[in-house]
Amino acid sequence: MKTLVLNAGYEPVRVVSWQKAMILLLTEKAELVKAYDRFVRSAKQSFMLPQIIKLKRYIKSFALAAGAVSYSRHNVFKRDKFHCQYCNKKLSEKTATIDHIIPKSKGGQDTWDNTVCCCIACNSRKGSRTPEESHMTLVKHPRRPHLRAALIELLAEFECDDWGLDEAMEAAGP
Ligand SMILES: [Zn+2]
Repeated sequence: MKTLVLNAGYEPVRVVSWQKAMILLLTEKAELVKAYDRFVRSAKQSFMLPQIIKLKRYIKSFALAAGAVSYSRHNVFKRDKFHCQYCNKKLSEKTATIDHIIPKSKGGQDTWDNTVCCCIACNSRKGSRTPEESHMTLVKHPRRPHLRAALIELLAEFECDDWGLDEAMEAAGP
């Protein structure tokens, strides 16, 4: 079980284990916002298992945008929903590869807009050419995932899509 930690202004900060969340609650560093429909029992008492907690003190030093959508191979796959961006085939962590739209050999970089999820067949067909040179079309032009999309995903993971997303977005700023 995991717990979503919100900043004092209600912006999502990070995800922690429920044990860590309990410590934050018991030391009164955080307060309970929403609980799972479950209890944890100790010898003396039982506690609601925390699903979302809110820090009492505002933490400045967190980069929500960077943390939620930092560039990585896995996050590129996630952004493209594990579908090959040329043939739209559904892939997995094992079968997905990274295609550099502008090949690395031609100066292409590991960036959000130059890398896409790609199946092995399309990747070898494309080789070290651009999509135009290999007569291949991208399903869609890749972009850095929007912060809102990352937040929706984060909140959905916690089964709280109904929970003040707009409020969180507003607090998180642009
Ligand atoms: Zn493909």
